[in-house]
Amino acid sequence: MAKASGEKKLDPKKPHITDERITKANWFKHVNWLNVTLIIGVPIYGMITAYYTPLHLKTAIFAFAYYFMTGLGITAGYHRLWAHTCYSARLPLKIFLAAVGAGAVQGSIRWWSRDHRAHHRYTDTDKDPYSVRKGLVYSHIGWMIMKQNPKRIGRTDISDLNDDPVVVWQHRNYIKCVIFMGMVFPCLVSGLGWGDWMGGFIYAGILRIFVVQQATFCVNSLAHWLGDQPFDDRNSPRDHVITAFVTLGEGYHNFHHEFPSDYRNAIEWFQYDPTKWSIWVWKQLGLAYDLKQFKQNEIEKGRLQQMQKKLDQKRQTLDWGIALEQLPIIDWDTYQTEAKNGRALVAVAGVVHDITDFIKDHPGGKALITSGIGKDATAIFNGGVYNHSNAAHNLLSTMRVGVLRGGCEVEIWKRAQRENKDISFVSDSAGQKIIRAGSQVTRIAEPVASADAA
Ligand SMILES: [Zn+2]
Ligand SMILES: [Zn+2]
Repeated sequence: MAKASGEKKLDPKKPHITDERITKANWFKHVNWLNVTLIIGVPIYGMITAYYTPLHLKTAIFAFAYYFMTGLGITAGYHRLWAHTCYSARLPLKIFLAAVGAGAVQGSIRWWSRDHRAHHRYTDTDKDPYSVRKGLVYSHIGWMIMKQNPKRIGRTDISDLNDDPVVVWQHRNYIKCVIFMGMVFPCLVSGLGWGDWMGGFIYAGILRIFVVQQATFCVNSLAHWLGDQPFDDRNSPRDHVITAFVTLGEGYHNFHHEFPSDYRNAIEWFQYDPTKWSIWVWKQLGLAYDLKQFKQNEIEKGRLQQMQKKLDQKRQTLDWGIALEQLPIIDWDTYQTEAKNGRALVAVAGVVHDITDFIKDHPGGKALITSGIGKDATAIFNGGVYNHSNAAHNLLSTMRVGVLRGGCEVEIWKRAQRENKDISFVSDSAGQKIIRAGSQVTRIAEPVASADAA
């Protein structure tokens, strides 16, 4: 399937069909009819014929096992061994993976890996051969059933693949490999094994190919559309257990795009990644070696940064009060006059708060809170009368209306800023100040002495 695309020598002077807009008159020229036949037509024939073909238990078990093997040919072979060189394989394993990979009918290793490297390098751009930005259906199947301009696909280096004799041999003999491993081999096993030639052809051949193909296509579509993004949310790849179940463990795709040369897709032991388990078993058998694994430290860094990004987004939805530098500067006399004239203003650590709407809700009662009106309530608030909670400091900050000019109140504020220098001025990725618990400007460590001096 799709073997021919991109392999023919192009006449650079001749415009490619994709340069023309799709119209009623030319749409059929845009369709890749060979691929339509192989990935849609043949499976439909298989389904119709299956209706008249009894399914024997042995054939069913073999079809499932062969599905798993040919799927591994793609996930452990084409993808993790050849496209990403996540590990090295001895010759017998390479030959096995190249053979069962051909049985999955998804193009040669060379063609598949080149496109896949372009997919990683140019994810979500026009140079991505199966960009999900062009729609879920396009990323799943559209890019194969519609003709593609090979010049559009991003360039990648595949010199290592051209040096691999197994890859080169499979590429040169691809059609023979596909026909034998895709159709003849399952037929022979079922036919010679238990006399079910037709069942082998339909179930272990055609329909099994259909399932493996659709499963693999899900990595390009579903894995870029469904699930979480614990490592980076700037591009489309996502992690989801459903995709993992469908794709022999390739569903932890957000991780995979961040750490593509890691032989694992799932990093937790309880996550479903039979491709990883197979590679590990091959290592124990001496068939695979040099399994690459990113350091946990690097993985945790990526996870933490993404968590921080989410925290920043959440923080920005909350009311932290007007920023101090945006508040008007009020003289001490003006503050006292306004308070005397009936405005419920309270100064704490040089910041003036309007508590009018809060007096009736004050947990400590009306009398205590009103006693602070028109005064420097720094010490009262910070333990002189009651050592207010972190939540109280947070709430108070939403009532700020001004900053006192000069005087020791401002000095207290400045000192507080100095003391908490490391934390007070931390900003998030959008430049918003981060106010950590216990480091609000109204919180003063030893306020009584300073306030007495006032
Ligand atoms: Zn991807
Ligand atoms: Zn990949």
